[in-house]
Amino acid sequence: MITLALSKGRIFDETLPLLKAAGIEVLDDPETTRKLMLATNRPDVRVVLVRASDVPTYVEYGGADLGVVGKDTLIEHGGQGLYQPLDLNIAKCRVSVAVRDDFDYATAVRSGSRLRVATKYTAIARTFFAEKGVHVDMVKLYGSMELAPLTGLADAIVDMVSTGNTLKANHLVEVERIMDISARLVVNQAALKLKGAVLRPMLEAFAGAVRKD
Ligand code: AMP
Repeated sequence: MITLALSKGRIFDETLPLLKAAGIEVLDDPETTRKLMLATNRPDVRVVLVRASDVPTYVEYGGADLGVVGKDTLIEHGGQGLYQPLDLNIAKCRVSVAVRDDFDYATAVRSGSRLRVATKYTAIARTFFAEKGVHVDMVKLYGSMELAPLTGLADAIVDMVSTGNTLKANHLVEVERIMDISARLVVNQAALKLKGAVLRPMLEAFAGAVRKD
């Protein structure tokens, strides 16, 4: 049995065409079923629905043989124990620094003052500001980062941006683009050895179906 870990929403939706290219069709719709383990048209392949941030953990410990996860989540988790063979070029967005539209970010950074940064992406933010030589006080949040500058909790946020509409709606502006994000296929290293005969053709089919743009 091959177990594939996916998270609901954009990753699930955008992975379906890649699965189809590998001859795999999921038999349930995650938006309507309450099941967390979904059968496919292949009796030897199943999908488990987990939180995006749990995908690397499932694959690392062998609860799933492979999974699809955003580069951001992978960096925050650390890639230990995971074979990362493919950039799937889906679920694309970026991680950026944003501030209130009336906040003078350039001066704050230049003057060497400490910047209070709220984010869920503490590893990415820490590395980014350390490389710039900016001192930061990090405030860890788990969601609704956009609220932090509006309530005075932080000067800046490090958050995922796709269209930029959420920032705009909250009077925030994107002042730095830290990195581009896309979803990656990760594979359990032991599974790749033990189930290579089934997994390798699947990986090749995914690779052949990845859109290059
Ligand atoms: P947007 O308004 O299109 O810029 O989307 C930004 C909002 O969607 C933020 O709250 C992000 O946290 C979230 N978001 C955007 N892209 C992704 C993604 N690929 N994965 C998870 N969250 C995302």
